[in-house]
Amino acid sequence: MWPELDARTEAWRARCAEFAERVILPNRRQYDRENRFPEAVHEVARAEGMLNLDFPEELGGGGLSSVEAVVGVETLASVCAPIAFTMGFNRGALHPILVGANDDQKQEFIGKLIAEGRYASLCLTEPHSSGSNLMGLNTTATRTDRGWMITGEKCMVGNGGVSTQFSVLAKTVVDGKNQGLSFFAVPKSDAVIVSENTDKLGFRAVETPTIRFVGAEVEPHHRIGATGSGAALMIDTLHAIRVGGSATILGIVVGALNDALPWVSEREVYGGKLVTKSHVQLVLGGLYAELEMVRRMVYESARLRDEGKPFGHASSIAKLHAAELAKKATTEVSQLFGWRGIDGDYPIQKRYRDARQTSIFEGTSEVQRMSIFHTLMSRHSRGEAL
Ligand SMILES: Cc1cc2nc3c(=O)[nH]c(=O)nc-3n(C[C@H](O)[C@H](O)[C@H](O)COP(=O)(O)OP(=O)(O)OC[C@H]3O[C@@H](n4cnc5c(N)ncnc54)[C@H](O)[C@@H]3O)c2cc1C
Repeated sequence: MWPELDARTEAWRARCAEFAERVILPNRRQYDRENRFPEAVHEVARAEGMLNLDFPEELGGGGLSSVEAVVGVETLASVCAPIAFTMGFNRGALHPILVGANDDQKQEFIGKLIAEGRYASLCLTEPHSSGSNLMGLNTTATRTDRGWMITGEKCMVGNGGVSTQFSVLAKTVVDGKNQGLSFFAVPKSDAVIVSENTDKLGFRAVETPTIRFVGAEVEPHHRIGATGSGAALMIDTLHAIRVGGSATILGIVVGALNDALPWVSEREVYGGKLVTKSHVQLVLGGLYAELEMVRRMVYESARLRDEGKPFGHASSIAKLHAAELAKKATTEVSQLFGWRGIDGDYPIQKRYRDARQTSIFEGTSEVQRMSIFHTLMSRHSRGEAL
């Protein structure tokens, strides 16, 4: 049910549904098995103008609103969440540039990249520090005579195998002094070394290699925003990517229900269809209720964002509940399939594996709860009604 969609958004949803059925569905198992970026899908997506749609038109994007973007992402992800993730990833990776850069930088690091059909990655997490506490990261950007030299290691870099540009969060070191975190737009070069892809449980079509920056040199204008502005840009970026991330996760729940309904309608047990058993009705009815509830949270965070209002708290709540629901829904639906629920010939097996990643990326469920707790405490200390 999409009760609140206007005609334009409904047409967009239908376009995404058709694309997912025609282009993503035939490819989803192959790229999951091969653990690699879904090139074949992207070739068609690029030719049909289905990439970079949620960037401003002046930078070569499609000018979609945040609400339109989440509707599209959820629809694509209901067929394959990881492939949908790869299609939307540029927006998250380039968010620090979109909000923190000047117009020339935006044209150089966003406009040109979109025009040339290339990819960018967001480099926050590191192998030797906590991804939940990015203030403790180790990568450095050291001021040199020619600009900046980036040294360090980033891991779980989404689309990292195909990207030609990296938004790197690093400690800014000037004259030997740490001047706080800053973002840098770092192009691929011989000093940017991409490892083998990670062998993940799910989201396998999203390549997440480790990237080593071995004294990668960039010119001064590759620093985004003022020195030390990286922490604020990072928080803004995490708020933003959680809106699209929650929509991707919702797609897993929709897909699980789409898998379940024909199966329970056909499967006979103890002389009756599964769908006639009250347990099955309660499971599926309960999941659908939660889906509709979480979808409203995702839409609300997208709407707040479109209206230029604070949306970080709403997107944390949406991400937390979407991830926990995806794990629950795929567990319960795979159980309804008996042995088929764990067989790779049935899509629910992949959704179950994909769901497991969702409470980790874009901030773990524990991190969302901590962030929601901080909002609670600050509202309490200001004497605001809860
Ligand atoms: C599919 C996928 C794609 C990803 N893509 C990207 C990407 O493109 N770019 C990128 O930079 N990263 C990416 N990541 C990495 C992801 O953002 C991190 O894994 C995540 O932020 C958690 O960091 P960590 O793994 O270092 O865990 P840690 O921070 O080491 O946490 C370990 C555990 O401790 C818990 N924990 C941490 N702090 C506390 C606390 N104070 N109290 C209680 N519990 C706590 C965490 O919740 C977690 O359960 C991706 C991950 C996945 C799975």
